[in-house]
Amino acid sequence: MTSKKNMRVAMYYKNDDVRIEEQPIPAIGPGEILVKTEVCGLCGGETMEWYLKSRAPKVLGHEPTGVIAEVGKGVKEFKEGDRVFVHHHVPCMSCHYCHRGRFTLCEHFSKTKIEPGGFAEFFRVPAEIVKSDTLLLSKGVTFEDGTIIEPMACTLKGVRQTPPHPGDTIAIIGAGFMGMCYLQLLTLTTAGKIIVLDFSDWRLERAREMGATHTLNPKKQDPLEQLHEINNGRGADAVFITAGSIAAWDLGLQLCERGGQLHLGAPPPPGEVWPVDSNALYFSEVQINSSFSAHHVDTQSVLDLLAAKRVNAEALITHRFGLDGVEEAISLLLKADVSLKSLIYPWGINN
Ligand SMILES: [Zn+2]
Ligand SMILES: [Zn+2]
Repeated sequence: MTSKKNMRVAMYYKNDDVRIEEQPIPAIGPGEILVKTEVCGLCGGETMEWYLKSRAPKVLGHEPTGVIAEVGKGVKEFKEGDRVFVHHHVPCMSCHYCHRGRFTLCEHFSKTKIEPGGFAEFFRVPAEIVKSDTLLLSKGVTFEDGTIIEPMACTLKGVRQTPPHPGDTIAIIGAGFMGMCYLQLLTLTTAGKIIVLDFSDWRLERAREMGATHTLNPKKQDPLEQLHEINNGRGADAVFITAGSIAAWDLGLQLCERGGQLHLGAPPPPGEVWPVDSNALYFSEVQINSSFSAHHVDTQSVLDLLAAKRVNAEALITHRFGLDGVEEAISLLLKADVSLKSLIYPWGINN
């Protein structure tokens, strides 16, 4: 229980306007929990103004970990003081899509949320999220480690949908946080060469440290020519695209070998049209798939990978801010250069 009545939140208006505001600590009902936020990551999706415009003003943050401050009536699985990761979306478990295991397509999925968000001193967790996607942080998994559960789970879902054959040559377009997650996960598979492309040499250096066998900077090298050079005259057997831009999708399709797999990992703005040579696409037999968000199976898997020290959260976290640093974290993310994941500490970095 907390004796405080109000809490501080970071209220998002637009990318260059995030204000510290006070609001009441949410009250919890039966089956719910109140979490004192320890730390929460900033997601690339939280810089997409076209997506956030209709939703603002809004408290962002959906990659939180914290300590349970209060449990509602009937909560058996958790107690005050437990260290947890909380997912912001859960499916209904009973619709057409849920029965097919396509949980992120469930109509209910995007409607569920934590209140008000992770960039707040406390947040309320609705009963259905307490039940299906609130995870106790395993021993040895830190609060910081836990912040990568949700975003890495999104890439894990992408890798599950695009499983490489043994020895496959992989290309990853974009070496930001998501690209590095694909990289870390794909190095755990039987994939062969893993080639990472980005405009930032700093990011490419990090990619080599995290297991990329080759890196390419399309600003300086012709990516298709270089890929063919590396891969015996062929393109990549699987291409993972982390950028939601038509230019990146064009490049991805260009780099994908006939019979290969093309994974679309981020959305362009609504209404954008992707012109492709349909005849060439038909004869290429390239398999295209996309993946939105992640669900309870993926979050649990990433927690298990973290507990087993098979993935490295520390290498992905580059910047830390207090609640008043959200604006700076957003601008850093948009620069897409010398940063990967930024974390926000609502109670201060040294608290
Ligand atoms: Zn996200
Ligand atoms: Zn459903």
